[in-house]
Amino acid sequence: MTSCAKCNHVVDKTYDCEHTDDEEYCVECYTELHYYLTEKKHADNS
Ligand SMILES: [Zn+2]
Ligand SMILES: [Zn+2]
Repeated sequence: MTSCAKCNHVVDKTYDCEHTDDEEYCVECYTELHYYLTEKKHADNS
C-alpha cells in the first residue's frame, strides 16, 4: 500500500511519470493531471 502524493489517499497502486515530478499519484490524480496537460496543449495549439 502506498499513498498518493497529491490527495494523500492510500491506494493499492500508484503511477508516476515525468509529469508527476517523480511523485506517486493514484489513478484519479494521474488521470486528472494528464487531462489538464492535454487540455493545455489543445489551448496552446488554437
Ligand atoms: Zn490521488
Ligand atoms: Zn505523464
